[in-house]
Amino acid sequence: MNLRILVPTLLGSVLLSAAAEASTLQNWRFDRNQNRLEIQTDIGVQPRAFLIFNPTRLVIDLPGVLLRRPKQSEDLDGAIRSLRIAQFERQTTRMVIELAPGYTLDPQKIKFRGVFANQWIVQLPEPEQTTEPVAAGATSPPTTVSAQTAVAVPLPEKLRPPLSVRPLPVRPPATLSGGRDPVQPARGQVVLVIDPGHGGPDPGAVGIGGLREVDVIMPVAFHLRELLQKQGIYVVMTREDDLDLGLEPRVQIAERANASLFVSIHANAISMARPDVSGVETFYFSSGKGLAQSIQRNIVQATGMRDRGAKRARFYVLQRTSMPAVLVEMGFVTGAEDAPRLRDSEFLKKMAEAIAQGILEYVRTGE
Ligand code: ZN
Repeated sequence: MNLRILVPTLLGSVLLSAAAEASTLQNWRFDRNQNRLEIQTDIGVQPRAFLIFNPTRLVIDLPGVLLRRPKQSEDLDGAIRSLRIAQFERQTTRMVIELAPGYTLDPQKIKFRGVFANQWIVQLPEPEQTTEPVAAGATSPPTTVSAQTAVAVPLPEKLRPPLSVRPLPVRPPATLSGGRDPVQPARGQVVLVIDPGHGGPDPGAVGIGGLREVDVIMPVAFHLRELLQKQGIYVVMTREDDLDLGLEPRVQIAERANASLFVSIHANAISMARPDVSGVETFYFSSGKGLAQSIQRNIVQATGMRDRGAKRARFYVLQRTSMPAVLVEMGFVTGAEDAPRLRDSEFLKKMAEAIAQGILEYVRTGE
């Protein structure tokens, strides 16, 4: 289904262009004498930062910021070896300061200072020489689950810019990827929370041939975000990285974002002895009924999967959220019919398109 053509007429003036809300990296400068990085964007940003070791790299992400130019890299000789800047994700600019081998930084001594919401100074301490591998995680817990251990860099509790052309409301510190998007929704813009289930040590259900629920969830969640952002919906993800996130934080993210809608993405499972069970089902608890029906209808139409219906269920994230909330079970990883399809990336794209269409139809008509 072609969302591009459908939506301008569907959603009319309710939605604004998300692109217009994106910020741009205006300027940056690294002062080698003072070990100081200055960053300026056109709209305010809430950076997030972490350290990775061997070699030591300080990674600074600017969510919601477009680079609008080719990636750049500056070689610096000395303990601080290089600075690289690239568009990391569609809407995140990433800056990486890399240290020479044998040097590291104390994450507690890296200071982020917001001069304005759109102007940040990152003050690095003097790099320290290491003789042994850095005990990553000794000072703070790892922030991402990956091959390399990363350590969060503490950021200011609150940023209260004295003056800014477009100050952002103060938000809690961006800790992990926490799903917070610092660009604010425009007035009247639909705010949708996408909640990819499970993550980190919890891969969700595991089915035929070792097919893991999280491996089905993430491609759909990311594609869904992209599709909806293109249609002007303001999307917040409860998690982007493969990390452990409890149910309560997922609800809190939705409440704090003042979300209009909440969509939790899962894949289903039953005993491995029941490969005969396949099909899609969408759950709601109360006000999510119309949204659940719209998504369920669109998935069944687009994929031809077995229709297990839109049903009421007492899932935590459905009961505790205050906005229309649904939980989509996109087929059974244990199902002989579903599992091969859920492995197919083209099928997962189709699934994301169907969910997007279900959401957009619901936004338009309320059913
Ligand atoms: Zn699940």
